[in-house]
Amino acid sequence: MTIDQYAGLGFWKAASPDIQNQVSLILRDLVQKHGTALVDSFYSAFLVHDEGRSFLDHAVVQTRLSRSMETWLTDLVHLDLHGDLSAFLTQQEKVGSIHGRMKVPAQLVHQGASLLKSHMSQLLHEQMVEGSNQASYAVPAIIILDELIDFALCMMNQAHVIDAQERAQMDEAYRHFSLGQDINLERETQRAALMEWSQEALFNLFTTHIRELPQKITASAFGLWMRHRAAVLFQDSGALRAIERVMDEIDTQILPQIIASDDRSLLLIALKEKVEEVGFLLANLFNAAAMLESGRDPLTRALSRRFLPSVLNREIMLAKSHETPLCVAMIDIDHFKHVNDAFGHGVGDTVLSHVADVLLNAVRANDFVFRYGGEEFLVVFPATELADATAAMERLRTRVEKLPIAIREGAPVRVSLSAGVASFEGHPDYEYLIRNADAMLYQAKNSGRNKVVAQG
Ligand code: GH3
Ligand code: MG
Ligand code: MG
Repeated sequence: MTIDQYAGLGFWKAASPDIQNQVSLILRDLVQKHGTALVDSFYSAFLVHDEGRSFLDHAVVQTRLSRSMETWLTDLVHLDLHGDLSAFLTQQEKVGSIHGRMKVPAQLVHQGASLLKSHMSQLLHEQMVEGSNQASYAVPAIIILDELIDFALCMMNQAHVIDAQERAQMDEAYRHFSLGQDINLERETQRAALMEWSQEALFNLFTTHIRELPQKITASAFGLWMRHRAAVLFQDSGALRAIERVMDEIDTQILPQIIASDDRSLLLIALKEKVEEVGFLLANLFNAAAMLESGRDPLTRALSRRFLPSVLNREIMLAKSHETPLCVAMIDIDHFKHVNDAFGHGVGDTVLSHVADVLLNAVRANDFVFRYGGEEFLVVFPATELADATAAMERLRTRVEKLPIAIREGAPVRVSLSAGVASFEGHPDYEYLIRNADAMLYQAKNSGRNKVVAQG
């Protein structure tokens, strides 16, 4: 690659050879004199920064990174921008990959670059004020330094982003692989491990004279599985955190209380209840995971929202390449809060799953129904004109409106829905399409609800 293929460095490209040379000398001189100090101040600024510290506070990282950063800076100012840049680019990509591997957040790298620019600019400014013989080149030097650092950063980011994407895909693949390891077997194994811990603990604690703490639940085979495997299997789920909280309560409160007490019976019941709570939460977690594995929301069986980006990106690509229409409908149940308030959350859930059934059963086989939020659904209509998608949506609305939903006591509940329909108009960002459908939904709500409003 040569510098002509890069869009930046505009000031440097337009500068006279004299300015280019002088600036180059000034920057080299600056790094030679102040390189170590610059790197030191860079690290001290980062070490007071929480996020930065988590990456840099290891002594080995500091010494190694300090050295490589000084080399990086020296290479940067010695770069022959008129020559072949391949070696320099490879080096930046390597740095970017390392950042990606360490999961250094991109904004941290940018803040670091900013910090470096400010310090160096400040030094150049001081030279200017002192009136050194190079003073008249200080301003171009500040600008070109800024351009140079941006250039390196741009090359670094390319590798960083690609690496981060690959890593995310790997993480996801690993999760699927872990899930694929027979989820039912795992469920039984862990239920047994939990029971085993609780029986042993209860057995020890029944013997009142023992004042020794039994093995903590977090240290048991079950606890270790929770920390090391469940976190991968169930990712950041609320139930997972709830189990961790209950286990922590058992270890730090209930067990010590039992040991300290002379009458243990009530506390033992409390312990048993807590263990049952863990078991219950665990069962929920496995149920939800089994559903998620098939990509569906456990309550409504509609597609899980996390697949929306993949589906819409793919459909947008197909719409473009085949020049076919594509529509999206955003659906929201009307006055749903009232359903919850009047009949309770249980009935609310029943209503949701019935409405979802209507949507799932009435769309064509190649349409997609997502649960978008609480009582919001999103339907993707591939290869469908706006008028047809609107008519299909109107049919769904009528069906829901007519649907009597039986509940345990009293007359059946009825609900209605409002929907906004939008068609793909060429914007590559799928959020834009969703926003258009959402704006139409807003109009449907504002003009009386139980309505379908289409774009345009
Ligand atoms: P609007 O016609 O303006 O949409 O009125 P609304 O009452 O539906 O308004 P809003 O969208 O603000 O309220 C949605 C309610 O849906 C709030 C929330 O408690 C409830 N909800 C969300 N998810 C669930 C769920 O999974 N189950 C139950 N039972 N209720 C839910
Ligand atoms: Mg809503
Ligand atoms: Mg609503």
